[in-house]
Amino acid sequence: MTYDAQNIFAKILRGEIPGEKILETNHAISFNDISPKAKVHVLVIPKGAYLDIYDFNKNASQAETVDFWRCVNLTIEKFEIEKLGFQIKAHKGETGGQEVFHFHIHILSND
Ligand code: AMP
Repeated sequence: MTYDAQNIFAKILRGEIPGEKILETNHAISFNDISPKAKVHVLVIPKGAYLDIYDFNKNASQAETVDFWRCVNLTIEKFEIEKLGFQIKAHKGETGGQEVFHFHIHILSND
């Protein structure tokens, strides 16, 4: 599968459709999941065009990788869930439950 620039998260990144943005770093943004499965359910995505977690881990630069995880922690701190605990999920491929083919992780609070 190749990256499709018309995917919904690419459209959010380009500002073509609205997203409830939480924060932005140099190479990543976080925004609320449209269909939350927990009190806090946020998605973090790189700004770069990566299909999934495997593609990102294989091809992202060190700067993108470091900044992505910095965005994850800043988002966690924004919701003050670092002490409460949380889950991180990443789906890879249709058989792995992935619906949107722009790499993202889910941050879900434990409530
Ligand atoms: P995944 O199964 O990991 O690909 O999850 C895709 C996630 O994107 C789902 O949890 C959806 O609720 C979420 N989603 C789909 N469209 C939007 C959107 N426009 N804004 C925010 N989240 C979305």
